[in-house]
Amino acid sequence: MRCPCCSEKLYVECCEPFHLAKAIPKTAEQLMRSRYSAYVLHKVDYIVKTTIPAQQAKLDVVAITTWSEQTDWQGLRILKYKPISGVPQAKVEFEAYYQENGERKTHHEVSIFLKIQGQWYFKDPTV
Ligand SMILES: [Zn+2]
Repeated sequence: MRCPCCSEKLYVECCEPFHLAKAIPKTAEQLMRSRYSAYVLHKVDYIVKTTIPAQQAKLDVVAITTWSEQTDWQGLRILKYKPISGVPQAKVEFEAYYQENGERKTHHEVSIFLKIQGQWYFKDPTV
């Protein structure tokens, strides 16, 4: 199957190795994509463990699960990927598309990612 993150690659060659913990994303963009496909495939554990460790206990796992399962995901587009020079941080601007009550909606967000001990994490602005 094609990867849900819209990379045009096969899932096994794209986000699956990250979901199975066989590899870790090398860039914040890869992490962003793999988190989106985790939402599509309802891999909530992956959403949690790729959020910065200090925030993980504060995540509302029930809400994440509901959002993941009840959303009719339609696609992802990365608009801008910008590593921030000098610090282990990156910004990813993206749009995620979904369908709600027969209407196509867009979720637009600029996310911050941090690299901690060699691994990229999502910084949740709501926690
Ligand atoms: Zn992918």
